[in-house]
Amino acid sequence: MTTAGGAGETRSLGGGPERRPGHEERRCPACGAALTDLRPSYRIGDWAVVRCSSCGTGVTVPEPDEAVLRRMYDEPAYYETHGIRHSDVLPDHRARARVVDAWAPGPRVLEVGTGEGYLLAALRDEGFDVRGCEISAWAAAAARERFGLDVFHGELAAAGYGPASFDVVLMYHVLEHVSAPRRLLSEAWQLLRPGGLLIAEVPNLDSAQMRYGRRAREHILDLPFHLVHFTPTGLRTLLARQGFRVLELTIPFGPPFGPVLAVYEALRRRRRASGGEPSTSTGDRERSAGRAGPSVGRREGSPDRPGCGGIRLPADEGEHVRERSMRVTAWKARILERLRAVSSAYKMTAYAERLEECPPSGGG
Ligand SMILES: [Zn+2]
Repeated sequence: MTTAGGAGETRSLGGGPERRPGHEERRCPACGAALTDLRPSYRIGDWAVVRCSSCGTGVTVPEPDEAVLRRMYDEPAYYETHGIRHSDVLPDHRARARVVDAWAPGPRVLEVGTGEGYLLAALRDEGFDVRGCEISAWAAAAARERFGLDVFHGELAAAGYGPASFDVVLMYHVLEHVSAPRRLLSEAWQLLRPGGLLIAEVPNLDSAQMRYGRRAREHILDLPFHLVHFTPTGLRTLLARQGFRVLELTIPFGPPFGPVLAVYEALRRRRRASGGEPSTSTGDRERSAGRAGPSVGRREGSPDRPGCGGIRLPADEGEHVRERSMRVTAWKARILERLRAVSSAYKMTAYAERLEECPPSGGG
């Protein structure tokens, strides 16, 4: 993998895992437990990842120098490997904008980590009132020049947005790049109005692609740029600690069954849309237990969220037909769950509601 500043600068970030003592006092940035097991789970070059024995979240050791990383983010070269030309993180921005649109409880959107502004520009075209915040001067300037977007260059805390001034805060592949994700989330909590929506997407350390895809692993870990490596449990715990309720955690299917399952899911959606099959939660979404869907209010005129809805049967069907249908549905869900365990893609997306109160802070 090429890094923006070249191997020389990467090495100047902190040396080998053994060289800098002190990480034995570190706490898990997700759940706050002390990091007691310091045996590296992964090692790439001078860098290693140790995991929290409580929630499984990984931490890059030794702790890279964030000031050096910052300089590297300011180089256009970083975006050649990590930006729009990086096929792994090249999303269909229009499709992503439609997902945001389907979830958004209001029109005011802030994207933290705007990059070159593709998603924000797509959202503006959908009618959203958009702002951006980006720590790379180069990327912020590109977003302003290319799309005329209102992008603040610098830390979120310095941007000067008022409390509760946004309905939606987006963080696509941001939290893994900061050493203190709790602080960033607490800032986002302040900026969101109660009932507002946070969408946070990060790589999934527990994904099948991470475990089995040896070539993909380097990209997913992306050392030393990724300082924290989340698991579904870690991300859920972190969000709960910071005053968010996770409405849904989406874990997409990946290789080797991903393409087949994507076709299966698309066919199911079509049958469901035409009333041919009882509706259930989609296979690529890990639903929050005990919740039927988001409780945040939706914007007027936004389309239905794809794949949402509980089990629905025609009223005139007999009880035994109902039962059998539900058994088949549960059986299919179990199979999909098993397949996901060996075929989940590298990332996950949390859709979380900003609660009225943030629990008192404590621990790491
Ligand atoms: Zn943890």
